[in-house]
Amino acid sequence: MKPLSDGTIPPEGSVYWIALKQFDEASKILNLDEGMCDLLRHPKRELSVSFPVCMDDDSLRMFTGYRVHHNTVRGPTKGGIRYHPIVDLNEIRALAMWMTWKCAVVNIPYGGAKGGVIVDPDELSIHELERLTRRFATEISIIMGPEGDIPAPDVNTNQQIMAWIMDTYSMHKGYSVPAVVTGKPIEIGGSMGRSSATGRGVMITTREALKMRGMTFSDVTVAVQGFGNVGSVAAEMMSSEGATIVAVSEVYGGILNPKGLDIKALKSYVEQNKIIQGFPGSDTITNEELLTYTCDVLVPCALENQITSKIADRIQASFVAEGANGPTTPGADKILEDKGVFIIPDVLCNAGGVTSSYFEWVQDLQSFFWSEKEIDERLERILVEAFHAVMAETEKRKVGKRIAAQCLGIKRVADATKVRGIYP
Ligand code: NAD
Repeated sequence: MKPLSDGTIPPEGSVYWIALKQFDEASKILNLDEGMCDLLRHPKRELSVSFPVCMDDDSLRMFTGYRVHHNTVRGPTKGGIRYHPIVDLNEIRALAMWMTWKCAVVNIPYGGAKGGVIVDPDELSIHELERLTRRFATEISIIMGPEGDIPAPDVNTNQQIMAWIMDTYSMHKGYSVPAVVTGKPIEIGGSMGRSSATGRGVMITTREALKMRGMTFSDVTVAVQGFGNVGSVAAEMMSSEGATIVAVSEVYGGILNPKGLDIKALKSYVEQNKIIQGFPGSDTITNEELLTYTCDVLVPCALENQITSKIADRIQASFVAEGANGPTTPGADKILEDKGVFIIPDVLCNAGGVTSSYFEWVQDLQSFFWSEKEIDERLERILVEAFHAVMAETEKRKVGKRIAAQCLGIKRVADATKVRGIYP
């Protein structure tokens, strides 16, 4: 792999190495010249911050966080903020790059960004979490704003955290700036449908994939890894469209019922018990067993690098719908493709979230709000169009769906770069 401008190559197999490898493959197919490839491979700007938080026992604890803007050619940058103990700068760079291609695949006027803080939020009290969020928001506010960079929720962040970021930014400005983040509560300028949009998008793109093989949700069994913002909604929506959800998992392991889990009841159970284990009528299953369990549709909605070449051979599903970002390694990708598995790549499958975030931002900027029906209809139209554009690209270029999706996104960004020209 060609080194980055600082002379480094990310560790082989790491998420950033994977993102660059995918980019290199797609850009070769697109025949992009070397200068354009170099430009698009590099993040435009990145901020690392170390900051103190006052803990409840009056001690000070230092935290490290990042915000990376990968590309701003098509518009302001957009991307989530995650709180996780294994966040690192290279992971954030990869996720920011994927956000650029994702926004271009669904053709919304954004570039890609991502942020994260190295923290296990379960170890913090609610007050510590609020202070950490407000301080991190202040630290990154020098590169965040409604016209430049608009964060959203991601792993272990939610509506409440977005509300604190919006409030912190607004306090600094002296007036309310709802458009600085998306995924906010409705009460402060959030959008109808945003919290379910990523899962809805996973359902819509899976439905379109099933149609291409003459199937509907009533014909299929589904296993979902991850039961958070994305996984729980995807499971619920697929289930209400007629699918049988046979297994779901979370970080502590999974549960199984070959006859189908009642997802609505499971969501209520999780609200009360915080975990899925012990849900009445289910057996336990490990995360690896879930990934290789006999089902038609596998929906990874947890973290990166879950479907590896070690287990890809044993995957039984004929469809993999990537709710998560980067859940499949390149080695596993090849094995799945050779087996004829229909992969709905992350930059398409989970793009419902950013599309609906775009709707929220537009509404906030105009202070004019749309009905849930309008939002669902617009989301449906954009995702179905993007799905078929990716399928057309797959046919045209005779490549797998992941590389086809990346070609579609990268070409749009390259074309925008050409037409803008290189400053000065
Ligand atoms: P979340 O924190 O709400 O949920 C994550 C879920 O994954 C939890 O159920 C957690 O227990 C589970 N999990 C974590 N590690 C696991 C492991 N090793 N094995 C099995 N399960 C594990 O996060 P989320 O917002 O649902 O995000 C999930 C994925 O979707 C991430 O890759 C994220 O980048 C991507 N994504 C999220 C959004 C969004 O709108 N939230 C949009 C696009 C993509």
